[in-house]
Formats: sequence, structure tokens, C-alpha cells
Amino acid sequence: MEYKGRRQSTNVDDARGRKMAGAAIPIGLLIRFVTRMFGAKGLLVLAAAGIIGWQMGLFDPAAMLGGGGQVTEVEYTPTAEEEQLREFVAVTLADTEDVWNREFQRMGRQYRPPQLVLYRQQYPTGCGVGDARMGPFYCPADQKVYIDLSFYDSLEQEFSAPGDFAQAYVIAHEIGHHVQNLLGISDQVAAMQGRPDYNEYSVRLELQADFLAGLWAHHNQRYLEHGDIEEAMRAANQIGDDAIQSRTQGRISPHAFTHGTSEQRMRWFERGLESGRIEDGDTFEMPYSSL
Ligand SMILES: [Zn+2]
Repeated sequence: MEYKGRRQSTNVDDARGRKMAGAAIPIGLLIRFVTRMFGAKGLLVLAAAGIIGWQMGLFDPAAMLGGGGQVTEVEYTPTAEEEQLREFVAVTLADTEDVWNREFQRMGRQYRPPQLVLYRQQYPTGCGVGDARMGPFYCPADQKVYIDLSFYDSLEQEFSAPGDFAQAYVIAHEIGHHVQNLLGISDQVAAMQGRPDYNEYSVRLELQADFLAGLWAHHNQRYLEHGDIEEAMRAANQIGDDAIQSRTQGRISPHAFTHGTSEQRMRWFERGLESGRIEDGDTFEMPYSSL
């Protein structure tokens, strides 16, 4: 995808230099170490020192245990490669803003662009602590997309889906969840929680987000380069539930699907890419077996 020198979104919140305070001191390790070295007496001394320190306001135990969610500034200097990735993400986000501004206007609505938070390792979000191992995600509660850029290494290495357009697809999919949230679709699905067929609604929601990612690609075709669509399709193929399950458990159990099969994910992305019209992306009307 062409992105050099293009408009970058101002809605990127770069939190890579902010660390969760709770992660600063591994208190469990400290207790184990003191107990081994000094026995129970050492632990008593540690506890007493802890209480005195707390009383004197030297530290906040809640933050140390990771429950405080406070963040502290740390020294962080991104590499040139990471900076390029940040620029790429900011341009992709700007592209989604342009497309969805227009589409919402066409529907007589107003698009409110979400913030995209770049973080490293762990970060407090409106949906609990974000962890890099979870991959990029959208939090409906605070309407933000969270991503640790190291996921892009996994996409290339673990999931064998390299290429910048694979990376753009992942963002466009998360923005698709934001669109669903603004349109009230996410709430309707959330209300189904607890029902035995809830997984089916989750799959429908995910496939629609893939469709919306395809729709975004449709309206962005002038910036695409040779091989881009294949990169996105490969990512959709590699992160389907069946592909992930067979890699992690060596077998496939369809009732546990929450995102759809690889084939379904590619199909709905392609449908969005071909159509470019949100009306063609209703994944909730048709029978589940026809998705
Ligand atoms: Zn999703």
C-alpha cells in the first residue's frame, strides 16, 4: 500500500513510553526471594517495611499489585523500523476515517472516529488489562483500538501472513468493530450473551467486521499495490478460527468458533471488497449454515 507522505490520523495515542505501574515490581517474586533467603522472619520484616513505606506515601500497594492501572513514563526510543510502522498505522487509520466519514454521511449519520492506542506488553483499557499476547482488539467500552506493534512480527512469523496490507487489514477489521458499535450492532450481539447459540452471533459479528474491512479496501483501491489483496486474504485465511484451532489444539471444533472459518473470513472480506456498499454486509439475516 502506498503510504509515504500521506495524511496521518491525529487519533493515534502513542503509549509506548507509558508502562503500567503494576508491572514495575514483581511483588510475588520479591516475596518468594525474601522467604527463601531469610525465612518467615524476613517476610515479617518485609511486611513491616511495606506498611511503613505505604504509610509514608512512598508507594501505592494497589498499583504494585497491578490493580491500580496507573501508568508511569519510561524511557522509550523506537527503532527506525518501528517509526515506519507507526507512520503506516497512522495513515491506515486516516484512510478508515475518510471512508467511514463518507459512508456515515451517506446514511445520514455522523462518524465519530475512535482513538488507536499503541502500547507495549500490557496496558490498562476500558475492557481490563490489554496484553500484547491477545493481539489487536477493539474495546467497545472506551471506543478505542489497542495494538502492540509486535503483533505484526507474529503475523509474519507465526501466522505466515507478511506484508503491509495484511497489517492494514487487521486495523480495518478492528475499525469495523467500531462501526458496528456506533450502529448499535455490537450491543444487540452483547445482549445475546448467555444464550446457547451466542457463538453463532459472535461469528456473524466477526464476519461482518471482515466485510467492513473489505469495504474499506474497496474505497481505498487507488493506493493499493500489486499483491496487496493477496496479503490481506492470506491474513484472513491464517487467523480464521479453524486455522488457529488446528494449530493450537490439532483439531477443529466448530461449536467453539467465535470468528468464523478461514474460508468464511476470506469470503466476507472479498464480498466487501467487491461491493463497497454496507447494505450488502448483513451477516445476521441469512441462515447460519449459508454464511
Ligand atoms: Zn474481530
